[in-house]
Amino acid sequence: MRHWSVRHARKLKQVYVMLEFVLVKLAPVISKIGYQRLEGPIFAFEKALKGVLLDSQSCGQCVVGSTGMSCPMNCPKALRNGPCGGVRQNGKCEIEPTMTCVWLMAWEGNKRMAEKIHSIQLIQPAIDNRLMGTSAWLREVRQRVSEMEKGVLS
Ligand code: SF4
Repeated sequence: MRHWSVRHARKLKQVYVMLEFVLVKLAPVISKIGYQRLEGPIFAFEKALKGVLLDSQSCGQCVVGSTGMSCPMNCPKALRNGPCGGVRQNGKCEIEPTMTCVWLMAWEGNKRMAEKIHSIQLIQPAIDNRLMGTSAWLREVRQRVSEMEKGVLS
């Protein structure tokens, strides 16, 4: 399924942006119910959906919007900025020879997104293992709301 998601990266990214927009709009409701209380159910839904579509490993710091809808956590070296220097000539992974390199797919998906500024070129920070198994969506909502409050975004 993750090959399908990369092939349809552009449409999926649009769905992602829409979902983010809706969640940010719902922020006052989310805040009223409580982020802590919603963490469990939203994480369960997010894990199930991303698990099917992206083979997501639920790192809690989702960057697929910048990696052509290819989850970098499927890279055996868990590289957040790839690819490594070991990609085989046939495009397969150095560690898992039956698997297409996750980062090769990421570049392919990113090309399909046809963005003006290629977000795949952004340097991603190292993974924070403390956030594993938490909702990346809720974190994103919190961050966006806080940026809006500070006037970073309009
Ligand atoms: S070949 Fe690709 S998937 Fe395999 S370890 Fe290197 S970057 Fe990760």
